[in-house]
Amino acid sequence: MAVLVLRVIPDPVLRQTAASVALADIPKLKSLVVDMVQTMDANQGVGLAAPQVGRGLRLIVASTVQGPLALFNPVLSRRSLRTELGEEGCLSIPGVYGRVRRSVRVAVSGVAPDGQPMRFTAKGFFARVLQHEVDHLNGVLFIDRTKKITTGRERLEAMLGGTTAGYSASQPSG
Ligand SMILES: [Zn+2]
Repeated sequence: MAVLVLRVIPDPVLRQTAASVALADIPKLKSLVVDMVQTMDANQGVGLAAPQVGRGLRLIVASTVQGPLALFNPVLSRRSLRTELGEEGCLSIPGVYGRVRRSVRVAVSGVAPDGQPMRFTAKGFFARVLQHEVDHLNGVLFIDRTKKITTGRERLEAMLGGTTAGYSASQPSG
């Protein structure tokens, strides 16, 4: 088990479309799943996508009330027309928060680390986290969707300009 190095903007891996994972490869990625969960927890994150640790694979993890969830090749469908605004942060955009409109409910399918298909409905904050993480697999970041950066606008501009800054995450980030 290991806490992995987080990739932060403007790392190009965050802008690439991640590759689907073949069923046969899932057993080989068990340690990556464990490491991603540990990395998410160590950074007080609520979700993490493989590109955020430099792996261009369609794999996300998220923390749930029942414990960590890992999902390969996640697909969101039946996004509710009803949306809500909520504040988001991102472990790859440290110290920056903004309001993003997301569906309040989505149907989720994918493959669990044991190779079994998974299908469930996510609501509210959990649905928001999953939409944020699946965006990562398509090279999309919350700053692309936000209508308003609420915290860290200058920091964001500095990061996009290629400079780095220390931070401490104080709000839920994925
Ligand atoms: Zn993120």
